[in-house]
Amino acid sequence: MKLAASLSRLGTESAFQVLARAGELAAQGQDIINLGIGQPDFRTPEHIVQAGIKALQDGAHGYTPANGLPALREAVAADLHRRHGATVSPDNVIVQPGGKPTMFFAVMAFGEPGAEIMYPNPGFPIYESVINYTGATPVPIALSEDQGFAFDAEMVLGQITDRTRLIIINSPANPTGGVTPKEQIDKLVAGLEAHPHVALLSDEIYSQMLYDGREHVSLLNYPSIRDRLIVLDGWSKTYAMTGWRLGFAVWPDKLVEPITRLCVNDHSCVNAATQHAGIAALTGPQDEVRDMVAQFDTRRRYIVKALNDLPGVRCADAGGAFYAFPNIEGTGMDSRTAQDRFLTEAGVATVSGTSFGAMGEGFVRFSYANSLERIEEAIGRIDKLLAG
Ligand code: PLP
Repeated sequence: MKLAASLSRLGTESAFQVLARAGELAAQGQDIINLGIGQPDFRTPEHIVQAGIKALQDGAHGYTPANGLPALREAVAADLHRRHGATVSPDNVIVQPGGKPTMFFAVMAFGEPGAEIMYPNPGFPIYESVINYTGATPVPIALSEDQGFAFDAEMVLGQITDRTRLIIINSPANPTGGVTPKEQIDKLVAGLEAHPHVALLSDEIYSQMLYDGREHVSLLNYPSIRDRLIVLDGWSKTYAMTGWRLGFAVWPDKLVEPITRLCVNDHSCVNAATQHAGIAALTGPQDEVRDMVAQFDTRRRYIVKALNDLPGVRCADAGGAFYAFPNIEGTGMDSRTAQDRFLTEAGVATVSGTSFGAMGEGFVRFSYANSLERIEEAIGRIDKLLAG
C-alpha cells in the first residue's frame, strides 16, 4: 500500500487522546476528574431532545438539502439578527455536521502549496493540521499571555504577503479563554481593506460564552469585508450538543455553491432529526443557555483564582469560553510532563498547551466543564502534587 503523502501531514486533536487515556485509567478503577475535553457537562435541554425524537417519529428519515433544511437556515439567520443585529440571508448559511467541517472546507477552499494561511497559536489544533494537509504554509498569529491571549491587529496585518489567502481568528478562544477587544477587531478590518485578496474565517463558536459584562463582537457587523468573510458558529457548545454533530457557517456569495458541492461530495447532508432539534434550539426558550453560562462563570471565578494560588502557577483572566490556560513554567515541568503527571499522579485530565501549537509550551489547558465540587477536588489534588 502506498498512502498519499498529504495524510502524514494531517495532525490531530490531542484532547481526544487524553479522553481515551483518562477512560482507560478510570476503567482500571482510578477516580479521574476530567478537565480535559472541551464539551459542556450539561445535558442538551429537554425541549431540544424532544424535538429530535418527534422528528424521527414524524418520519424525518430521508436526505435533506445538502446545505440544510430551509427552515433551519431561516432560523439561523433570524438568530444571528437577534444576537448580533446582523442581516444575513438564509441563502448564505450552510449547515454542516459540527463546526469542524466548516474550518476543514474553508481551509480546503484556500489552501494549496504556495499559499499562506494565518492561524492563532496557541489555538484550536485543527486549523494548523488542515493547513498542513493542504500543503499551504501555516503562518502563526502569536498570542501572548500578557495581552490576555487577544490577537494584535497590527501584528496580523504586518504578516500579510501577496501569498496570504486566509486569516483565521477565534474569539472567545480555545484553548486560552481569551477575548479580543473590539478595538483590535476594528483595526484588523480597517487594515484588511487594503488587502482585498485576503479572506477571513472568524470562528465564533463560543460567541455566547462571555463573562464580566463582555459583549461578543461578531465580524458579521463589518460590511466592508462581508464579501470575503466566513463566520463559523454552531450548537455544540451553546446548547450542549457536541454529540449531535450540528454546526453552521455564513459564507460569502462566491463560496456558497462550491462549499455546498463539497458537502454533497462529503456527507450529502446533516442527519435530518438533528436539524429539527437545531430549529427547536434556536426558536425555543434560551433560559437554559443563560443558566449554563452562569454556572460556567461561577466555576471560572473559582478556577482562575485557585490556579493563581498554586505554587509555580499563574493564570491570566479568562474572559470567555470555558477554559483556563495557566502558565506552569514556575513548577519546573514542561507542558507535556505536567499533563502526564496531573493525570497519572493526581487523576486529573488536562491538556498540554503544546497540543494547541508550539507557542502553547509552558501552559496547560483546564476545561471547567465539570461540577464546582469536582473542580475544587482537582485543584486540591494538584496542589498536593506540586507541594510534594
Ligand atoms: N471551533 C473551536 C474554537 C472549538 O473549540 C471547537 C470544538 O472544540 C470547534 C470549533 C468545533 O466544534 P464542533 O464540535 O461543533 O465541531
